[in-house]
Amino acid sequence: MKMQGSYPTIPVLDQRQGSLKIPPTAGAHAPGLVKDGLNRPLRDLRISVTDRCNFRCSYCMPKEVFDKDYAYLPHSALLSFEEITRIAKEFVGLGVQKIRLTGGEPLLRKNLELLITQLAALRTTEGAPLDITLTTNGSLLARKAQALKAAGLQRVTVSLDGLDDAVFKKMNDVDFPVADVLAGIKAAQDAGLGPIKVNMVVKRGTNDHEILPMARHFRGTGVVLRFIEYMDVGATNGWRMDEVVPSAEVIARLRSEMPLVALEACAPGETAQRWGYADAQGQFDPALGEVGVISSVTQAFCTDCNRARLSTEGQLYLCLFASQGYDLRSLVRHPEGMVDDRALGDAISAIWQGRSDRYSLLRATLPPEAQGTGARRVEMSYIGG
Ligand code: SAM
Ligand code: SF4
Ligand code: SF4
Repeated sequence: MKMQGSYPTIPVLDQRQGSLKIPPTAGAHAPGLVKDGLNRPLRDLRISVTDRCNFRCSYCMPKEVFDKDYAYLPHSALLSFEEITRIAKEFVGLGVQKIRLTGGEPLLRKNLELLITQLAALRTTEGAPLDITLTTNGSLLARKAQALKAAGLQRVTVSLDGLDDAVFKKMNDVDFPVADVLAGIKAAQDAGLGPIKVNMVVKRGTNDHEILPMARHFRGTGVVLRFIEYMDVGATNGWRMDEVVPSAEVIARLRSEMPLVALEACAPGETAQRWGYADAQGQFDPALGEVGVISSVTQAFCTDCNRARLSTEGQLYLCLFASQGYDLRSLVRHPEGMVDDRALGDAISAIWQGRSDRYSLLRATLPPEAQGTGARRVEMSYIGG
């Protein structure tokens, strides 16, 4: 490991600076469940369908960097829906049960419903339908919810960082009003895309005073609000540890007004810790529902991380904080590099078996002043959250 000052830096590089070499695949294919070097299965595939977005959230795509001169991927570089489905099928054959479409803003990708229809036809190794979900900023949801549901989407997660228009507009930096996101959430509920999750990234001094109003608003509505610790993803958001509000503090603030009880995780590898609203007797009241906290910074969940990420142009990333990916597009597109399905599955299997990524766990071993430092990483808008 390289040294920066007196601290070890976690090696991270830049996006789109070439790809990692796909390891030799001989004997790699174990149909069914594949495990990585830390014995973690492959269960969850996040697919970024565009690197573009109509918001400029300061923590993700700050305006100063993602301006009119920013070089987004040309359309020809994007994986086609057929290429995505072909790659996804091999992931599913290795154990993936859940697919999340993301971006950029996934609803900006034209005819996304067609991709959802293709993915919905896939079956897990146990013959079950996939859990297909999507993370969106909600801006186009009111218009698209019905069609997404009809295509086979099961659920949506909507990002919303506050209820106060001034706060929210400052965070999305394109003057987008809260009311339109709430209308999107309502449309998704009406279309049967529930249970809906709402993600709120909490930044100290920017929107932490919105924690309680957001909880009050969504309690008892069937919507699961999740508070996300502001992360040091990418290289452009100027992350600072003192802007992170630890989940423990979020829970303490909620508890000052609303009694909560800890709930069990729904599935292994789940990122959120669940808390149920309690009734007057201190028991979980399902009618009031639950909240979650995602403690990516203060409580690393790498030990159970079963997520792979496919970038818009077909790079496979093994960690949200990775610097380089494996070029799967070359295996499904170029005549000289094209392989059959079996060899594609072998390649993915070999890559996963060689995985030992655990960025958040390693970061937690650094002293606070060294956290978030180090070389450049891939942007979240490029590989999706
Ligand atoms: N545009 C869609 C949206 O905002 O929901 C999908 C892509 S966005 C990259 C996925 C999720 O990542 C969003 O919930 C967003 O709030 C979250 N996110 C982006 N940058 C983040 C950061 N620095 N720390 C924590 N979460 C972040
Ligand atoms: Fe766009 Fe989502 Fe990033 Fe905000 S968090 S800039 S909505 S991709
Ligand atoms: Fe998974 Fe990487 Fe996040 Fe750890 S830091 S939980 S390995 S994506």
